[in-house]
Amino acid sequence: MKKPRVGIFGFTGCAGDQLMILNLEDELLDLVGALDIKSFTMASSLVEDDEYDVAFVEGSITTPKQKEKLEQIRNKSKLLVAIGDCAAWGGVQASCNGIVSVSKKMVEVYGSRNVWEIYESKPLSAYVKVDFVLPGCPIEKEEFLRAATSLLHGDIPEAVDYPVCVECKLRENGCVLLEGRLCLGPITPGGCKARCPSLGVDCIGCRGVIDGESRIKSAIEVFKEAGFEKDYVKKRLRMFAANYPEILEVK
Ligand code: SF4
Ligand code: SF4
Repeated sequence: MKKPRVGIFGFTGCAGDQLMILNLEDELLDLVGALDIKSFTMASSLVEDDEYDVAFVEGSITTPKQKEKLEQIRNKSKLLVAIGDCAAWGGVQASCNGIVSVSKKMVEVYGSRNVWEIYESKPLSAYVKVDFVLPGCPIEKEEFLRAATSLLHGDIPEAVDYPVCVECKLRENGCVLLEGRLCLGPITPGGCKARCPSLGVDCIGCRGVIDGESRIKSAIEVFKEAGFEKDYVKKRLRMFAANYPEILEVK
């Protein structure tokens, strides 16, 4: 049987999601043996320009060249999966989108020299069709393995549709929101086993935002009623999901 052809690519980001795939340790050799890996930016300089059954793409798009490369990958891939928050939402580098212009940031960092053309950081979905999103900063190894197994059989995995709070309660944690810290668990997709609240730390929303306009609006009201300043709530929400429409519109 022909092995599925896979490409793993990286754009603007820290490469942490590709590292999580390399960190699979116990499963990595089986995975590599079962796949025909044509490109894996972080693992090998060998790139076979081919068609892909599945392309896993990390990082946000910030330059015209990246946009062009992403479009080429999309045209050659049956399924395209965004891995990690940068690819899914634009990442932390998008948190000032619409607040500080890219040209101003370039001048701040590089002076008046016109260094190169750069875009506001955008998720892959701003430019191409994305078939599935694996959230996280970085992604969860087990979640990647489960999703990869489905995708390589041609099935789209089920996305997590419950918030971090559910996993937090299953772990019988006390609620850090009720202790007076702004926890984004109510609007962040689960899947991390409520890692941060389980350590007594508030969730900063690294898995992006769970779909549902009313859920986001209600959570924002709850945060405000709990006494958190509007600007603080807005900044916290923008950190990992600045490109999410309802977050952009928080008044
Ligand atoms: S600590 Fe955070 S994640 Fe846990 S129940 Fe409270 S709000 Fe939800
Ligand atoms: S608890 Fe929140 S910030 Fe922590 S890993 Fe999970 S989604 Fe990310």
